[in-house]
Amino acid sequence: MPLTTFTARCTGHRQIAHDVFEFTLAKPEGFSFQAGQFVMFQVPLVDKSSDVQNRAFSIASAPSEPELLFVAKIKQGGRAGRWISELLKEEDDVTFQGPLGNFTLAESGESKLLFLATCSGIAPLRSQIVEALQQGDSRPMDLIFCVRGEEDLFWTKELEAIAQAHPNVHVHVSLSRPSAGWKGLSGHVQDVALEVIADLPERSIYVCGAPEMVKSVRAKAQEEWNILKERVHSEDYV
Ligand SMILES: Cc1cc2nc3c(=O)[nH]c(=O)nc-3n(C[C@H](O)[C@H](O)[C@H](O)COP(=O)(O)OP(=O)(O)OC[C@H]3O[C@@H](n4cnc5c(N)ncnc54)[C@H](O)[C@@H]3O)c2cc1C
Repeated sequence: MPLTTFTARCTGHRQIAHDVFEFTLAKPEGFSFQAGQFVMFQVPLVDKSSDVQNRAFSIASAPSEPELLFVAKIKQGGRAGRWISELLKEEDDVTFQGPLGNFTLAESGESKLLFLATCSGIAPLRSQIVEALQQGDSRPMDLIFCVRGEEDLFWTKELEAIAQAHPNVHVHVSLSRPSAGWKGLSGHVQDVALEVIADLPERSIYVCGAPEMVKSVRAKAQEEWNILKERVHSEDYV
């Protein structure tokens, strides 16, 4: 089936951490999606607006929320990075195709969930968790969210507020390169999972972020944590 192209108005745009921006779009008429899916933005070159290419971005908001939320880790010099950090602003119209992808929560057969994200890989996991809770999902859900240093942290207050409001949800924030003063968890998501999740073999995993991290989690899940490959769901941000 051909993909539908949508135009949406940017309703908010701000830098939320070192090299991380979030932006919101008004949901265009007729657009619907499942938690965990992504869209393809038509991204112009900053210096030549007629030169357009597609870039994938996961929808971070849940289908039940009023707007579409996105979070972007800026890769210096990259097309989307420059578009989002230098050009995009409130009131702009943006064009995208979608929804795409099947990184969605399994419909049945999973009793305990573990979400693993690095940096902007949190986007589809936020959507999945918020939507599941909105639908009354009471399964145990742990989210391990890892960024490099304190200056890279974002959304932690909101995620902790979600955990506060839902006893089945636990959020573990970790830094891979903390400063000497950091009092929280440190290490990569794979190591933190071993440290904080007592029942790893019982979990179904949803992992999103850098391809090397996703590959490492998939390997550990099968070879060391005894988790069937069918219960490891992933999205690589290539
Ligand atoms: C399904 C999916 C969902 C995704 N969702 C998200 C998301 O929600 N959030 C998110 O942040 N990312 C997401 N990504 C990644 C995103 O699509 C882009 O790949 C990423 O933002 C980089 O795109 P870019 O256009 O900025 O870089 P590109 O232009 O594609 O460049 C690629 C690399 O080359 C380097 N480069 C390019 N040109 C130059 C230059 N002139 N000088 C120096 N370096 C240069 C860039 O730094 C970058 O590292 C997703 C990817 C996939 C596949």
